[in-house]
Amino acid sequence: MSRVLKSGSNQITCTYAAHCASVAAGKAWAKGVDVVKYKSQIDKITAHSAGRVLRTVDYLSGTNGIIDRAGMGYGNYVMLLHDNNYVTLYAHLESVYVREGQTVAQGDEIGLMGNTGNSFGAHLHFELRKYKSNPCGNLHDLSAFEWLDPTDYLDTALPSSDSSSPASVGNSVKSVKAGAKIKLSDVSVYGSESGKSIGTRSGTYYVWSDEVRNGRVRMTNSAARVGVYGQVSFWVSIDDIALSESNAETVKPAPSPAAEKTYTVRAGDSLWAIAAKQLGNGGRYKEIMSLNGLKDDVIYAGQILKMPQ
Ligand SMILES: [Zn+2]
Repeated sequence: MSRVLKSGSNQITCTYAAHCASVAAGKAWAKGVDVVKYKSQIDKITAHSAGRVLRTVDYLSGTNGIIDRAGMGYGNYVMLLHDNNYVTLYAHLESVYVREGQTVAQGDEIGLMGNTGNSFGAHLHFELRKYKSNPCGNLHDLSAFEWLDPTDYLDTALPSSDSSSPASVGNSVKSVKAGAKIKLSDVSVYGSESGKSIGTRSGTYYVWSDEVRNGRVRMTNSAARVGVYGQVSFWVSIDDIALSESNAETVKPAPSPAAEKTYTVRAGDSLWAIAAKQLGNGGRYKEIMSLNGLKDDVIYAGQILKMPQ
C-alpha cells in the first residue's frame, strides 16, 4: 500500500534513474520519482512518515504568501522532516493542507496531487533526502543533504534509527532555554542574518532565546546580551549543542525595551499580511523589511520581527 497516496497504488511515470540521467545531462536539477495513482489518476498526498513540516510553499493560493524564488520548478510543495534527518519532499501539488512547524502523523493528508511548477500533467514528484546536522528549508543547498532513491520506500518505512544524532523533530530542543550557558566545542555556526556558515566556535556561549529556527538555536557570547536585539549572535544546530554541567547557571533574558515592538511570525504569515494586520497597511511591509535588514520577503514561523511604531 502506498505511503504517499491516500488511496490506490503507485504507478511510477518517471524513475529515479531517469531523473538522475536528466540531471547528469544538465536538463533537470532534482532527483526523485514521479508517481501517479494507478491508471494516471490523481489522489490526495499523505505524509510518508511521522514528522514535522519543515517548509511549505503554496504560492498559487497564497497560504504561504510568498513567491518561492528558490523553489522554482517545484510549484506548490511540502517538505517533511523525519527521524534521523530524513526529509521527504512532495512537489507540483494542486493545494497544500499543512503549515510550517506543524507535526504530522504517518498517513495524514498533506496536499492534493497537481500540476504546478515545472510539470506537464498532474503527478507527484517525490524525493527522499538525507540531511546532515542541520536540516533546513533551503532546497538548493547541495552541501546540506544527499538524495536517496525513494523507489523502495514508496510502500515501506524509512530506514530505522542509525548512528546519526537525534533528529530535531520537536523534542530535543526543550532542554535549550533562553539564557542557558553552554560550552561549545568546535561546532559549526551560522550567521544571524544570512544563515550561512561562518565557521566554527569553541568556548562558553549563551542561548539567546528559546526560538528554534530550522533546527538551529541562536547563541550569543555574553550573558548581558541574552535576548537583546541587535547584539552579536549566531545560530548553532541543536544537534551540535552539548549541554555542559554549567548550564544550571542560567541568566534571565533581557526584557524587550517597552519602546520596541516585536512580532513573532506564525506559520502561514506573509510580510504583507503582517503589515496589514499589525500596522493597518499592507504596503508598509517594506518598512518591516528594512527595519529587520531582510533582503527578500522570505520569513519563517517563529522568527521575531522588529515592528515599526
Ligand atoms: Zn520528477
